[in-house]
Amino acid sequence: MSRTPDAPDVLVVGGGIIGLATAWRAAQRGLRVAVADPEPGGGAARVAAGMLAAVTELHYGEQTLLGLNLESARRYPAFAAELEAASGRSVGYRACGTLAVALDADDRAHLRELHALQRRSDLESEWLTGRECRRLEPMLAPGVRGGLRVDGDHQVDPRRLATALVVACERAGVEFRRAWAERLLVVHDRAAGAVLDDGTEAAAGQVVLAGGSLSGRLGGVPDDVLPPVRPVKGQVLRLKVPGSYAPFLSRTVRAVVRGSHVYLVPRENGELVVGATTEELGWDTTVTAGGVYELLRDAHELVPGITELPLTETRSGLRPGSPDNAPMLGFTELPGLLLATGHYRNGVLLTPVTGDVLADALTSGRLPDLAGPFSPRRFAPVGARVRQEQPA
Ligand SMILES: Cc1cc2nc3c(=O)[nH]c(=O)nc-3n(C[C@H](O)[C@H](O)[C@H](O)COP(=O)(O)OP(=O)(O)OC[C@H]3O[C@@H](n4cnc5c(N)ncnc54)[C@H](O)[C@@H]3O)c2cc1C
Repeated sequence: MSRTPDAPDVLVVGGGIIGLATAWRAAQRGLRVAVADPEPGGGAARVAAGMLAAVTELHYGEQTLLGLNLESARRYPAFAAELEAASGRSVGYRACGTLAVALDADDRAHLRELHALQRRSDLESEWLTGRECRRLEPMLAPGVRGGLRVDGDHQVDPRRLATALVVACERAGVEFRRAWAERLLVVHDRAAGAVLDDGTEAAAGQVVLAGGSLSGRLGGVPDDVLPPVRPVKGQVLRLKVPGSYAPFLSRTVRAVVRGSHVYLVPRENGELVVGATTEELGWDTTVTAGGVYELLRDAHELVPGITELPLTETRSGLRPGSPDNAPMLGFTELPGLLLATGHYRNGVLLTPVTGDVLADALTSGRLPDLAGPFSPRRFAPVGARVRQEQPA
């Protein structure tokens, strides 16, 4: 393949946490890396709560994803420590655990089902009575009927994580191209970089598409390779726990209230994140009165004392959803083009493992076994899948 002299080995399109972790890890392996994004370190991480919730986010039919989630959770402490050392910035990793509670008989039945599924999956999770829940977290409503104590589901601060990744990338020599990638460059049937909206070209040996919910919109990508990613809106509130109230909550508390999920994530610095709505409304990111009302109503039922706290921020963001809620990692049918997208509601949790998997793939030309089930080729059109399954 002919290459532009001095072109980097890899162009990452999208500088959210997934693109940045990929770029950082690839640069650490000795590759020359560029990232195209008008605002690296932006994206959904500016909104996300940062729960590392492999166990409490378990859903029926997502056992394969569970394996990847658990692996990433296992890598988090070392990843956070290494990133903090490389960037000189804290990422707010907090091994605080999670309590999932039930407010009425229906919620309790739902939580019992989740507990049974967790037990069948060999996960650590302990059933507590309402009184035991309140002993752990005295601010909980007196009506709490029971709950699950999950000591292995922790948290990180996604905003700090994104900032630390930008600094670590800069220190590792990653080049930032602060512009939109308008179109993939394809030369001799191979991805060879991108055309940017500042009128320049960013040539590279391999391209990683990590554009979050916008990943399906990059021009020039053949239709059968374009990732089937859709935006799933989430509204989130931030409150401030004054120093005199501390500790308000000591761990993440979550519940399903009348069918909608609500969680409260207490940071060490006194920030309390309350989330999140789940809305299929395209690229709309309006914060609505209804969204804020529902979050406050449900959070208040869980922890009545929150109405005393200052409300400091309301915001919404877009989760990059995929057809099976699992990410797309690795090679596509177009040589030179890899995907790192579709992380949906677990993108913060999956950041360490994604960076490692993509760096492995970029350097070795092979997708690591643990990422096999997450190959983008699982969504290839039937014709392309048949071709791929036949020996060359
Ligand atoms: C409300 C909410 C709560 C969440 N809570 C959690 C949680 O508790 N735990 C968890 O694990 N996950 C959570 N998530 C999910 C997590 O935030 C996302 O999965 C993750 O941030 C996705 O990262 P990303 O880098 O793939 O995409 P994004 O964050 O969307 O970043 C993509 C980046 O690519 C850039 N881009 C796109 N197209 C182009 C282009 N053509 N050219 C140049 N740049 C481009 C964009 O500007 C953006 O900066 C939450 C998400 C939301 C919205």
